Amino acid sequence: MRFKTKSVHAGRKPDPVTGAISTPIYQTSTFVFDDYKQPKEHDYSRTSNPTRSSLESALAILEGGHDGFAFSSGMSAISTTLHLLKAGDHVVSCDDIYGGTYRLFAEILPKFGIDFTFVRLDNEDVLRDAIKPNTRMIWSETPSNPLLNITDLEMVSQVAQESNQDILTVADNTFATPYFLKPIEWGIDLVVHSTTKYLNGHSDVIGGAVITTSPELSEDIHFLLNGLGTNAPPFDSWLILRGLKTLPLRMKQHAAAAQAVAEFLDDHPRTEEVFYPGLSSHPGHDIARRQMKGFGGVVSFNLKNEVKPFLNKLKIFSLAESLGGADSLVEHAATMSHASMTPLARKKAGISDKLIRLSIGLEDQDDLIEDLSLALE
Ligand SMILES: *Cc1c(COP(=O)(O)O)cnc(C)c1O
Repeated sequence: MRFKTKSVHAGRKPDPVTGAISTPIYQTSTFVFDDYKQPKEHDYSRTSNPTRSSLESALAILEGGHDGFAFSSGMSAISTTLHLLKAGDHVVSCDDIYGGTYRLFAEILPKFGIDFTFVRLDNEDVLRDAIKPNTRMIWSETPSNPLLNITDLEMVSQVAQESNQDILTVADNTFATPYFLKPIEWGIDLVVHSTTKYLNGHSDVIGGAVITTSPELSEDIHFLLNGLGTNAPPFDSWLILRGLKTLPLRMKQHAAAAQAVAEFLDDHPRTEEVFYPGLSSHPGHDIARRQMKGFGGVVSFNLKNEVKPFLNKLKIFSLAESLGGADSLVEHAATMSHASMTPLARKKAGISDKLIRLSIGLEDQDDLIEDLSLALE
């Protein structure tokens, strides 16, 4: 089956009792046993739940992975994944990552003896140099948040393999979604998502996911999900399942409008640099073209003038964190999504105080461009 067909059907079947075509929301904590020592397929909803299982198999199929696991947030998926490691282990992470991921890596996990090196993953030699004898994981995010840097995932997985020291490669695929990028096809071991964003797509849920590539990783991730209690609830799982049905249509529209907005901003005298992998001037454009089927719906740029008047003048773009929904959003990285990074860390990652990030929604692109045009005047 092709991707659009999978988006509608993967992981779902009509309810065996009623024939309901929409997967029911099994809003229950526990399941009655058939008999002594004879549970049914599910016994307790932290461990597994039928609505969540349906979402999990849909995600595994869409990413081309072995199994999927649904979490209560992107951060809970990421924290759970990091529990694959132990004290004394080292992680190489790309430096331009989601602010909450950075906070977990820089401020929380080092307290438990896990060390991190942050580097720009656009250079093979830099990555090789960052690997230490105790490196066990390489963390990538492509396109990255907020600068839309592109990482060559095939290069990352090759460097990990050549190191001969059991390095797990992880890709946060939140920005691209499996419609545009399948990290597993490029050799990545684990894919993580904030399903809060495009996979759900309607700005009405917080959720996360991990997709594995082997039975061993599946067993480990499920053990951790159950042991840590980081699972997604049934109703949220149902909302994300519903969102998945329209993922291809939404991503196509997000990307087409984002390309138009990026080109408009690129030509505008009140903007400085524009960051969008679909622009041929973007340093990662060629890798993105080879690795992805589309460039996504997030556009960032540096404003020439003051940030506040621009933000206040926008009418269609709402000033809010997050991305990936039908409503277009605008945010100021330094004071909002990336406030959890220190000014120095932001500077090193190239995130300026004039950086604006747009999440291009599903409105008419001409209205979006008009809105930006008026606010830039
Ligand atoms: C939002 C986001 C996260 C965190 O997800 P939550 O659902 O907010 O916990 C992680 N990675 C990326 C790339 C994100 O955009």
